[in-house]
Amino acid sequence: MIRLFVNATVLTLDASLPVAQALAVKNGRIVEVGGTDEVLWLREDEYEVIDLQGRTVVPGFVDPHNHFSIGAFETLWADCREARSVADLQRALTAAAVDTPVGAWVRAVGYDHRLIGLHPTRGDLDAAVPDRPALLMHFSHHQCVANSRALAEAGIARGTPDPPGGQIARDKSGEPTGLLFERAMSRVETLSREAWEARFVEVARAASRRYAALGITAIQDAAVTPAMARRYAEARAAGALAIDVGELMVGSRGWFERPDDAAAGALKIFVDGGYRCAMRVRRDGATRTSGFLFYTREELTALLLAAWRAGRSVVCHAIGNLGVETAVDAIKDAVGAFPDGRERVRIDHAIFLTPDLIARIADLGIWVVVQPSFLWDSRDRPNATPADPAILQRPFASAGLAGVKQAFSSDYPCGSNSPIVGIAAAVTRTSREGHVAAPDEAMAVADALEAYTLGAARAAGLDAIAGSLESGKRADLLVLSSNPLECARAELASIRVLETWTNGVRSNPP
Ligand SMILES: [Zn+2]
Repeated sequence: MIRLFVNATVLTLDASLPVAQALAVKNGRIVEVGGTDEVLWLREDEYEVIDLQGRTVVPGFVDPHNHFSIGAFETLWADCREARSVADLQRALTAAAVDTPVGAWVRAVGYDHRLIGLHPTRGDLDAAVPDRPALLMHFSHHQCVANSRALAEAGIARGTPDPPGGQIARDKSGEPTGLLFERAMSRVETLSREAWEARFVEVARAASRRYAALGITAIQDAAVTPAMARRYAEARAAGALAIDVGELMVGSRGWFERPDDAAAGALKIFVDGGYRCAMRVRRDGATRTSGFLFYTREELTALLLAAWRAGRSVVCHAIGNLGVETAVDAIKDAVGAFPDGRERVRIDHAIFLTPDLIARIADLGIWVVVQPSFLWDSRDRPNATPADPAILQRPFASAGLAGVKQAFSSDYPCGSNSPIVGIAAAVTRTSREGHVAAPDEAMAVADALEAYTLGAARAAGLDAIAGSLESGKRADLLVLSSNPLECARAELASIRVLETWTNGVRSNPP
């Protein structure tokens, strides 16, 4: 069967033919792109003509930094994103405990201490869930609160030292309050998911349908433990994934740990923290550093070289300017010893940059994977906006002008999963509430579209099969309600994905 999509405005993202009217799809691949008349000539014994009546077709969106597995499980857990008080959190936890199977931890996600006015304590959680372990995840996913049973099961007590790159919050008497930062949460987080992971095939099936409805046809899950890699294998064997999911591996002991025991595949390395990323800020003539930096330049260089020598690619999470600087320094050193490594490393997030860092990243020629949808999400008021005028926040236009290769992603569930929202945010720099952030850093629509399609595919190493509509590539394509290159900037966010085709099969609507 050959499918002929005709009478469309096809934005191909292929520089040799940027706009076409039609394309033909057979056995999951694109076999021709061109004018409607020439494509109609390709009719075979079995064929279907899909007349798109002038609608816009673009490549399926690629999201190279998405926490698919985390987001999928979170549909099973109490949603605390709107909680306004400790009492709200307690009600959600009590209700969640009723639905939590015996042997599983009670889980709740997404609380925002800024809405509540403080962080809850283990005592607050104990009051709601006294008799079994419970874990409440902060919206950043880089800190959480555990109840007393959870702390006990993870072996966190009064005498437990802070791990490097983590912090156990303590009250005046030295008792852990339940609040755990970065690496201090590894053990509770890993334990809290174990019993739930058996339901991955079920939640992944539903999640991948939601992704397809948003126009996402390929992603990379940006933190996969060896245990989760086995669950992904089960999900694929069951045919549960409606989209292409690649895996970036972390170690078995937790997201933020040194990934010594990660399963084979591309590696994810956290260079700094999340909500408390590594910053260097100059204020009133003095320089101050803050946040968690997980590796020195030398340690990171050694990790990169070891990974490259084992044939692996590496994704470096780096958010703060000090984190990014450490990543850039280490990559430069490692590339000096192993030049081919340049093609096998990227920096993800790179939120706080300076003109000097931008120039150095451009010079290295590596990809950075950034998250425009955070500009849309009002909840994202990153850690104290630096008062240091040299520090730029998400300077997409400056980076593009300097020649930095930028791809877009969502970091879902930390950011909005919708690529349309991400593109609109990159172009308008406007939040859901109408705040405009550094309008000079707005990107052109065409560049934003490319960053979520071809650029993202290149950053993910998928560009041989995805990211543009060309003969030979996988038939991952979308039909949109209007043409993003022609609609008003303010209308971008309301563009709808009418149809999603993945591998030549319509995955949305099902
Ligand atoms: Zn992430």
